[in-house]
Amino acid sequence: MIAMLAERMQQPDCAKGVIFDGFPRNPAQADALDEMLRSLGQSLLAVIMLKVDEAALIERVSGRFSCANCGAGYHERFSPPRQSGVCDQCGHTQFTHRPDDNAETMKTRLITYREQTAPIIPYYAERGLLREVDGMADMAVVERAIAAILQAPSGHAA
Ligand SMILES: [Zn+2]
Repeated sequence: MIAMLAERMQQPDCAKGVIFDGFPRNPAQADALDEMLRSLGQSLLAVIMLKVDEAALIERVSGRFSCANCGAGYHERFSPPRQSGVCDQCGHTQFTHRPDDNAETMKTRLITYREQTAPIIPYYAERGLLREVDGMADMAVVERAIAAILQAPSGHAA
């Protein structure tokens, strides 16, 4: 995995930098990433942490369902069909809940995150790289916050 990343990072389209999404996920990967970056003469400019409210996250994810006919996505609370039980897109009346979207799966993911991924947070915080973004904000707000960090990763104006 690390060897693949190192090779990919040497392609011309990575000359301006790269973003790792959801990586590293544990301390061993964080160490391996550091070593790889050192060998390429590169370094991390910022580590962005999306902060979420776990209970709210479980609620958001567990209420998702989609039209069994056209696949249009809905949420019980946040984006239900205009007419209850009828797909806005195609008028179909049967819906499916993806098994991956249930609350149990999300809880398991959060446990894995706490046990394996959360330990890398102090590692980056101590090096002054950690930037926190409110992951519960509107998507456009989150996007702007991340863009601002990427413009000025050290925390100073570009
Ligand atoms: Zn539909």
